[in-house]
Amino acid sequence: MGPNELVAAVRKDLLARFESLEKKSDILKAPELKDLFKQIPALEPHERAEFGQKINALSNELKELVASAAAPIQQLTPIDVTAPMDINTAFPSFLPAEHGSVHPLMKEVEVLSGIFERMGFSIEESREIDDQYHMFDALNFPKDHPARDDYDTFMTVEEDENGERFVAPAHTSTMQNRVLKKYATNLAKGQPIAAVVPDRVFRNEDLDARHEHTFYQVEGVYVHKGVHAGMLIATLQEFLSEYYKKTVEVRTNPFYFPFTEPSFEMALSCPFCEKAGCKVCSFEGWIELLGCGMIHPEVLKAASIDPTVYTGFAWGLGIDRLVMMKNGIEDVRHFESAKLTFLRQFND
Ligand SMILES: [Zn+2]
Repeated sequence: MGPNELVAAVRKDLLARFESLEKKSDILKAPELKDLFKQIPALEPHERAEFGQKINALSNELKELVASAAAPIQQLTPIDVTAPMDINTAFPSFLPAEHGSVHPLMKEVEVLSGIFERMGFSIEESREIDDQYHMFDALNFPKDHPARDDYDTFMTVEEDENGERFVAPAHTSTMQNRVLKKYATNLAKGQPIAAVVPDRVFRNEDLDARHEHTFYQVEGVYVHKGVHAGMLIATLQEFLSEYYKKTVEVRTNPFYFPFTEPSFEMALSCPFCEKAGCKVCSFEGWIELLGCGMIHPEVLKAASIDPTVYTGFAWGLGIDRLVMMKNGIEDVRHFESAKLTFLRQFND
Protein backbone atom coordinates (compact mmCIF):
# COMPACT_ATOMS: atom_id res chain seq x y z
CA MET A 1 0.00 0.00 0.00
CA GLY A 2 1.41 3.42 -0.99
CA PRO A 3 1.53 6.34 1.42
CA ASN A 4 -1.60 8.02 0.00
CA GLU A 5 -3.69 4.88 0.22
CA LEU A 6 -2.41 4.34 3.76
CA VAL A 7 -3.64 7.78 4.88
CA ALA A 8 -7.00 7.16 3.20
CA ALA A 9 -7.38 3.79 4.95
CA VAL A 10 -6.50 5.22 8.37
CA ARG A 11 -8.91 8.13 7.78
CA LYS A 12 -11.75 5.70 7.03
CA ASP A 13 -11.05 3.71 10.22
CA LEU A 14 -10.79 6.77 12.43
CA LEU A 15 -13.98 8.42 11.09
CA ALA A 16 -15.87 5.21 11.82
CA ARG A 17 -14.42 5.01 15.32
CA PHE A 18 -15.19 8.69 16.00
CA GLU A 19 -18.93 7.98 15.76
CA SER A 20 -18.77 5.36 18.52
CA LEU A 21 -16.48 7.26 20.91
CA GLU A 22 -18.06 8.60 24.08
CA LYS A 23 -15.25 11.10 24.70
CA LYS A 24 -14.80 12.53 21.21
CA SER A 25 -11.40 14.13 21.88
CA ASP A 26 -9.88 10.65 22.39
CA ILE A 27 -9.77 10.34 18.59
CA LEU A 28 -6.87 12.82 18.57
CA LYS A 29 -4.85 10.37 20.65
CA ALA A 30 -5.40 7.44 18.23
CA PRO A 31 -2.18 5.41 17.84
CA GLU A 32 -2.76 5.07 14.06
CA LEU A 33 -2.43 8.82 13.69
CA LYS A 34 0.87 8.84 15.57
CA ASP A 35 2.11 5.88 13.49
CA LEU A 36 1.51 7.86 10.29
CA PHE A 37 3.76 10.66 11.51
CA LYS A 38 6.42 8.11 12.45
CA GLN A 39 6.58 6.84 8.88
CA ILE A 40 7.70 10.16 7.40
CA PRO A 41 11.47 9.71 7.97
CA ALA A 42 11.40 6.34 6.17
CA LEU A 43 10.01 7.85 2.93
CA GLU A 44 11.93 9.08 -0.10
CA PRO A 45 12.65 12.82 0.30
CA HIS A 46 10.35 13.83 -2.61
CA GLU A 47 7.41 11.96 -1.07
CA ARG A 48 7.72 13.45 2.40
CA ALA A 49 6.11 16.88 1.84
CA GLU A 50 2.95 15.54 0.22
CA PHE A 51 2.56 12.74 2.78
CA GLY A 52 3.08 15.19 5.63
CA GLN A 53 0.41 17.53 4.23
CA LYS A 54 -2.08 14.67 3.94
CA ILE A 55 -1.52 13.63 7.57
CA ASN A 56 -1.86 17.24 8.74
CA ALA A 57 -5.08 17.58 6.78
CA LEU A 58 -6.45 14.45 8.44
CA SER A 59 -5.34 15.67 11.85
CA ASN A 60 -7.06 19.06 11.28
CA GLU A 61 -10.22 17.35 10.04
CA LEU A 62 -10.38 15.31 13.26
CA LYS A 63 -9.77 18.41 15.40
CA GLU A 64 -12.68 20.18 13.69
CA LEU A 65 -14.92 17.19 14.27
CA VAL A 66 -14.03 17.21 17.97
CA ALA A 67 -14.63 20.98 18.18
CA SER A 68 -18.01 20.81 16.48
CA ALA A 69 -19.07 17.91 18.73
CA ALA A 70 -18.39 20.22 21.70
CA ALA A 71 -20.11 23.20 20.03
CA PRO A 72 -23.45 23.14 21.92
CA ILE A 73 -21.62 24.25 25.09
CA GLN A 74 -19.91 27.13 23.28
CA GLN A 75 -23.24 28.44 22.01
CA LEU A 76 -24.46 29.27 25.53
CA THR A 77 -24.66 32.97 26.32
CA PRO A 78 -22.02 33.86 28.88
CA ILE A 79 -23.45 35.16 32.15
CA ASP A 80 -21.96 36.83 35.18
CA VAL A 81 -22.98 34.56 38.06
CA THR A 82 -22.02 37.20 40.62
CA ALA A 83 -24.32 39.86 39.13
CA PRO A 84 -28.01 40.49 39.93
CA MET A 85 -30.32 38.52 37.62
CA ASP A 86 -31.51 41.46 35.55
CA ILE A 87 -27.92 42.23 34.51
CA ASN A 88 -27.82 38.88 32.71
CA THR A 89 -30.82 39.52 30.50
CA ALA A 90 -28.41 41.29 28.15
CA PHE A 91 -24.68 40.76 28.20
CA PRO A 92 -23.28 43.99 29.64
CA SER A 93 -20.72 45.80 27.54
CA PHE A 94 -17.22 46.16 28.95
CA LEU A 95 -16.22 49.28 30.82
CA PRO A 96 -14.04 51.45 28.61
CA ALA A 97 -10.41 50.66 29.43
CA GLU A 98 -9.55 54.31 30.03
CA HIS A 99 -11.84 54.28 33.08
CA GLY A 100 -9.64 51.77 34.91
CA SER A 101 -6.95 52.75 37.38
CA VAL A 102 -4.37 51.19 39.64
CA HIS A 103 -5.83 50.08 42.99
CA PRO A 104 -4.86 52.56 45.75
CA LEU A 105 -3.12 49.81 47.72
CA MET A 106 -1.05 48.70 44.72
CA LYS A 107 -0.11 52.30 44.07
CA GLU A 108 1.22 52.64 47.61
CA VAL A 109 3.00 49.27 47.45
CA GLU A 110 4.98 50.76 44.57
CA VAL A 111 5.72 53.94 46.53
CA LEU A 112 6.97 52.13 49.62
CA SER A 113 8.89 49.54 47.60
CA GLY A 114 10.66 52.44 45.89
CA ILE A 115 11.67 53.92 49.25
CA PHE A 116 13.03 50.61 50.53
CA GLU A 117 14.88 49.99 47.26
CA ARG A 118 16.63 53.34 47.60
CA MET A 119 17.58 52.27 51.15
CA GLY A 120 19.29 49.16 49.73
CA PHE A 121 16.60 46.51 50.21
CA SER A 122 15.65 44.08 47.48
CA ILE A 123 11.94 43.44 46.87
CA GLU A 124 10.64 39.88 47.20
CA GLU A 125 7.28 38.38 46.38
CA SER A 126 5.28 36.29 48.83
CA ARG A 127 2.80 33.52 48.02
CA GLU A 128 -0.89 33.08 48.72
CA ILE A 129 -0.76 29.43 49.78
CA ASP A 130 2.02 28.25 52.06
CA ASP A 131 2.83 25.39 54.41
CA GLN A 132 2.73 25.41 58.18
CA TYR A 133 6.50 24.93 58.37
CA HIS A 134 7.08 28.42 56.94
CA MET A 135 4.07 29.88 58.76
CA PHE A 136 5.10 28.60 62.22
CA ASP A 137 7.94 26.08 62.65
CA ALA A 138 10.67 28.03 60.85
CA LEU A 139 9.65 31.07 62.94
CA ASN A 140 10.18 29.38 66.31
CA PHE A 141 6.52 28.75 67.11
CA PRO A 142 6.57 25.50 69.14
CA LYS A 143 4.03 22.87 68.04
CA ASP A 144 0.63 23.40 69.73
CA HIS A 145 1.85 26.71 71.22
CA PRO A 146 -1.07 29.08 71.98
CA ALA A 147 0.71 31.86 70.03
CA ARG A 148 -0.33 29.99 66.87
CA ASP A 149 -3.94 30.84 67.71
CA ASP A 150 -3.21 34.54 67.16
CA TYR A 151 -2.75 33.76 63.48
CA ASP A 152 -6.13 32.24 62.70
CA THR A 153 -6.32 31.91 58.93
CA PHE A 154 -7.82 29.82 56.15
CA MET A 155 -6.66 26.28 55.34
CA THR A 156 -6.95 23.93 52.41
CA VAL A 157 -8.46 20.45 52.60
CA GLU A 158 -5.25 19.07 51.03
CA GLU A 159 -2.34 18.22 53.30
CA ASP A 160 1.40 18.44 52.73
CA GLU A 161 3.82 15.52 53.19
CA ASN A 162 3.83 16.15 56.97
CA GLY A 163 0.05 15.65 57.12
CA GLU A 164 -0.52 19.37 57.75
CA ARG A 165 -2.99 21.48 55.83
CA PHE A 166 -1.73 24.28 53.63
CA VAL A 167 -2.54 27.78 54.87
CA ALA A 168 -3.32 31.19 53.41
CA PRO A 169 -0.43 33.11 55.04
CA ALA A 170 -1.55 35.20 58.02
CA HIS A 171 1.64 37.29 57.90
CA THR A 172 4.42 37.99 55.41
CA SER A 173 6.88 36.52 57.94
CA THR A 174 6.26 33.19 56.19
CA MET A 175 8.90 34.47 53.75
CA GLN A 176 11.63 35.10 56.36
CA ASN A 177 13.13 31.61 56.16
CA ARG A 178 13.19 31.71 52.35
CA VAL A 179 14.73 35.19 52.22
CA LEU A 180 17.42 34.23 54.75
CA LYS A 181 18.31 31.10 52.77
CA LYS A 182 18.19 32.86 49.39
CA TYR A 183 20.65 35.56 50.44
CA ALA A 184 22.77 33.58 52.94
CA THR A 185 25.73 33.73 50.52
CA ASN A 186 25.74 37.54 50.90
CA LEU A 187 27.02 37.11 54.46
CA ALA A 188 30.06 35.07 53.35
CA LYS A 189 30.90 37.92 50.94
CA GLY A 190 30.71 40.46 53.77
CA GLN A 191 27.40 41.88 52.49
CA PRO A 192 24.14 42.13 54.46
CA ILE A 193 20.88 40.30 53.82
CA ALA A 194 18.44 43.16 53.15
CA ALA A 195 15.03 42.38 51.70
CA VAL A 196 11.42 43.50 52.01
CA VAL A 197 8.33 41.49 51.08
CA PRO A 198 5.23 43.60 50.36
CA ASP A 199 2.29 41.27 49.75
CA ARG A 200 -1.17 40.04 50.59
CA VAL A 201 -2.05 38.16 53.81
CA PHE A 202 -5.23 36.63 55.21
CA ARG A 203 -6.92 36.23 58.59
CA ASN A 204 -10.15 34.70 59.77
CA GLU A 205 -11.32 37.99 61.35
CA ASP A 206 -14.61 39.40 62.50
CA LEU A 207 -14.90 42.20 59.98
CA ASP A 208 -15.32 45.83 60.97
CA ALA A 209 -13.95 49.22 59.97
CA ARG A 210 -10.45 48.21 61.14
CA HIS A 211 -10.40 44.47 60.39
CA GLU A 212 -10.51 42.78 57.00
CA HIS A 213 -9.98 39.12 56.03
CA THR A 214 -7.52 40.12 53.30
CA PHE A 215 -4.93 42.82 53.80
CA TYR A 216 -1.35 43.77 52.99
CA GLN A 217 1.88 43.78 54.94
CA VAL A 218 5.46 44.66 54.17
CA GLU A 219 7.96 42.38 55.84
CA GLY A 220 11.53 43.58 56.35
CA VAL A 221 14.60 41.45 57.03
CA TYR A 222 18.12 42.73 57.65
CA VAL A 223 21.04 40.55 58.82
CA HIS A 224 24.75 41.33 59.10
CA LYS A 225 27.53 41.31 61.69
CA GLY A 226 26.95 43.67 64.61
CA VAL A 227 23.33 44.61 63.80
CA HIS A 228 21.52 46.04 66.85
CA ALA A 229 18.07 47.37 67.76
CA GLY A 230 19.17 51.01 67.27
CA MET A 231 19.61 50.25 63.56
CA LEU A 232 16.12 48.75 63.42
CA ILE A 233 14.58 51.88 64.91
CA ALA A 234 16.61 54.21 62.67
CA THR A 235 15.66 52.23 59.54
CA LEU A 236 11.93 52.37 60.24
CA GLN A 237 12.05 56.02 61.32
CA GLU A 238 13.81 56.86 58.06
CA PHE A 239 11.24 54.93 56.05
CA LEU A 240 8.22 56.49 57.80
CA SER A 241 9.65 60.00 57.44
CA GLU A 242 10.19 59.40 53.71
CA TYR A 243 6.71 57.95 53.31
CA TYR A 244 4.91 60.81 55.06
CA LYS A 245 7.40 63.37 53.70
CA LYS A 246 8.11 64.85 57.12
CA THR A 247 10.32 63.89 60.04
CA VAL A 248 8.37 61.62 62.37
CA GLU A 249 9.35 60.39 65.81
CA VAL A 250 9.02 56.73 66.73
CA ARG A 251 8.68 55.07 70.10
CA THR A 252 8.87 51.40 71.03
CA ASN A 253 7.16 49.33 73.69
CA PRO A 254 8.18 45.78 74.64
CA PHE A 255 6.03 43.14 73.00
CA TYR A 256 6.05 39.39 72.36
CA PHE A 257 6.57 37.56 69.08
CA PRO A 258 8.05 34.03 69.01
CA PHE A 259 10.31 34.95 66.08
CA THR A 260 11.98 38.05 67.52
CA GLU A 261 13.83 38.60 70.81
CA PRO A 262 13.56 41.29 72.05
CA SER A 263 10.28 42.20 70.35
CA PHE A 264 8.70 45.64 70.11
CA GLU A 265 5.56 47.36 69.09
CA MET A 266 6.40 50.60 67.34
CA ALA A 267 4.34 53.78 67.29
CA LEU A 268 5.01 56.89 65.26
CA SER A 269 4.24 60.47 66.18
CA CYS A 270 1.05 61.47 64.34
CA PRO A 271 2.17 62.97 61.03
CA PHE A 272 -1.08 64.95 60.75
CA CYS A 273 -1.23 66.87 64.02
CA GLU A 274 2.39 66.90 65.23
CA LYS A 275 1.28 65.14 68.45
CA ALA A 276 -1.36 67.81 69.25
CA GLY A 277 -4.10 65.17 68.89
CA CYS A 278 -6.51 64.66 66.00
CA LYS A 279 -9.08 62.19 64.66
CA VAL A 280 -6.48 60.06 62.84
CA CYS A 281 -4.51 59.36 66.03
CA SER A 282 -7.67 59.20 68.25
CA PHE A 283 -6.33 62.34 69.98
CA GLU A 284 -3.37 60.36 71.34
CA GLY A 285 -0.64 62.07 69.30
CA TRP A 286 0.88 58.63 68.64
CA ILE A 287 -0.18 55.81 66.31
CA GLU A 288 0.64 52.15 67.02
CA LEU A 289 1.74 50.87 63.66
CA LEU A 290 3.87 47.78 63.54
CA GLY A 291 5.59 44.85 65.21
CA CYS A 292 9.33 44.39 65.02
CA GLY A 293 12.37 43.07 66.84
CA MET A 294 15.74 41.37 66.68
CA ILE A 295 15.48 38.10 64.76
CA HIS A 296 15.37 35.16 67.20
CA PRO A 297 18.56 32.98 67.13
CA GLU A 298 16.39 29.91 66.38
CA VAL A 299 15.02 31.60 63.24
CA LEU A 300 18.56 32.29 62.02
CA LYS A 301 19.53 28.67 62.82
CA ALA A 302 16.54 27.36 60.83
CA ALA A 303 18.13 29.06 57.81
CA SER A 304 21.64 27.71 58.67
CA ILE A 305 22.92 31.15 59.74
CA ASP A 306 25.17 31.15 62.83
CA PRO A 307 23.52 33.43 65.43
CA THR A 308 26.81 33.74 67.36
CA VAL A 309 28.33 35.51 64.33
CA TYR A 310 25.37 37.33 62.75
CA THR A 311 22.42 39.27 64.14
CA GLY A 312 19.52 40.91 62.40
CA PHE A 313 16.20 42.63 62.69
CA ALA A 314 12.79 42.11 61.13
CA TRP A 315 9.48 43.90 61.03
CA GLY A 316 5.96 43.42 59.75
CA LEU A 317 4.08 46.58 58.86
CA GLY A 318 0.40 46.77 57.88
CA ILE A 319 0.16 48.59 54.56
CA ASP A 320 -3.62 49.17 54.66
CA ARG A 321 -3.33 51.21 57.85
CA LEU A 322 -0.51 53.29 56.39
CA VAL A 323 -2.54 54.06 53.27
CA MET A 324 -5.75 54.72 55.21
CA MET A 325 -3.99 57.34 57.30
CA LYS A 326 -2.28 58.92 54.30
CA ASN A 327 -5.56 59.29 52.39
CA GLY A 328 -8.02 59.76 55.26
CA ILE A 329 -9.86 56.48 54.51
CA GLU A 330 -12.15 55.63 57.42
CA ASP A 331 -13.00 51.98 56.69
CA VAL A 332 -10.53 49.26 55.68
CA ARG A 333 -13.32 47.28 53.97
CA HIS A 334 -13.43 49.82 51.13
CA PHE A 335 -10.21 48.33 49.72
CA GLU A 336 -11.73 44.91 48.95
CA SER A 337 -15.22 46.23 48.19
CA ALA A 338 -14.68 46.80 44.43
CA LYS A 339 -16.83 49.93 44.75
CA LEU A 340 -16.08 52.10 41.74
CA THR A 341 -17.15 55.25 43.61
CA PHE A 342 -14.37 54.55 46.11
CA LEU A 343 -11.73 53.41 43.63
CA ARG A 344 -12.24 56.27 41.17
CA GLN A 345 -11.21 58.81 43.78
CA PHE A 346 -7.66 57.58 43.28
CA ASN A 347 -7.60 58.10 39.50
CA ASP A 348 -4.74 60.33 38.51
ZN1 LIG B 1 -2.98 63.19 65.12
